[in-house]
Amino acid sequence: MIPMVDLRRQYESIKTEIDAAIGEVLGKTQFILGPNVAELEREIAGFHDVSHAVGVANGTDALLLALRACDIRQDDEVITTPFTFIATAEVIGLLRARPVFVDIKPGTFNIDPALIEKKITARTRAIIPVHLFGHPADMDPVMDISRRYGLRVIEDCAQAFGALYRGRKVGSIGDFGCFSFFPSKNLACYGDGGMVITGNQDMAEKIRILRNHGGRVKYYHDVLGYNSRLDEIQAAVLRVKLRRIEAWNEGRRRAAALYRTFIRREDIILPDEAPDCTHVYHQFTIRSTGRDRIMSDLSSRGIASAVYYPVPLHLQKVFAGLGEEGPLQVSERSAAEVLSLPMFPEITEEEIRRVSDVINRAV
Ligand SMILES: *Cc1c(COP(=O)(O)O)cnc(C)c1O
Repeated sequence: MIPMVDLRRQYESIKTEIDAAIGEVLGKTQFILGPNVAELEREIAGFHDVSHAVGVANGTDALLLALRACDIRQDDEVITTPFTFIATAEVIGLLRARPVFVDIKPGTFNIDPALIEKKITARTRAIIPVHLFGHPADMDPVMDISRRYGLRVIEDCAQAFGALYRGRKVGSIGDFGCFSFFPSKNLACYGDGGMVITGNQDMAEKIRILRNHGGRVKYYHDVLGYNSRLDEIQAAVLRVKLRRIEAWNEGRRRAAALYRTFIRREDIILPDEAPDCTHVYHQFTIRSTGRDRIMSDLSSRGIASAVYYPVPLHLQKVFAGLGEEGPLQVSERSAAEVLSLPMFPEITEEEIRRVSDVINRAV
């Protein structure tokens, strides 16, 4: 069996430190907004060279609270990609604002900046680029457009902790960087968790208030907020893991390089890595018109693979009636052709060879 991710291998490698960190929280019995959350916020802000980081309950809330901090509301429009996890656009809809989908580039699966301007209207307020699969979106043109039209930029970094765009860490380029620590992400905890980073003090303060029932002082509430705090136990786990994230991302890059060497087929398109970016390979995603056949061949040999994502968001039932049916051809074609292969820092060369051999022999 070769799984998509093997969380056990990673846990075994850091078990002593993790168990001690959790044990310490249990001993102190300070479970909500304790010292580990505060320290992790400082460490993650430092890692990204930004002034503020605010721990929240999950990556979806990180995006939701960033939109709320920007005062996104009913009838506002927010531009994003249709080729992403539902959460990216779900939060726009939850605020009764309207997601406006812009097609992607085929090599990186990220929003195509050249197509953004045509979709800007008087109601457009923000852009949410997603650094999908660990490859940075092309941020310079996105930032240029946002400055010209006065739009906020909220980076969805859920799959790209530590990825670099022209030497800058993703999340530190736009107004906000939103992270998820869901167990399968590159930097992950043992439950749900998320973080918003920003260089704007007022925005950081707004998010701190929103995450804790809309108030700064207990039992005094200024705005309608949420119960969306990062859990102290998860923060303790994340502090242990943060010390290793660069090595783990390097392990993913090594695995990707091996896939590139071992997969030898003209009819399979390997994922791009732009020369000015450092991809962190949350996923290694190939494209083939024979995708379904490759998937069943892998499965019959005990090798997992997955389709992220089978239906682009503009074609989802939940967004029917928005007038956003497309066509968005690159996204639709990608949905029909993509296949993500087993990818985690501890995957062995032997395992990558086995996966690649099955792919090379598929008819
Ligand atoms: C995982 C993910 C999210 C949501 O994060 P959760 O912590 O699961 O709420 C948002 N956007 C993208 C692109 C993701 O992959």
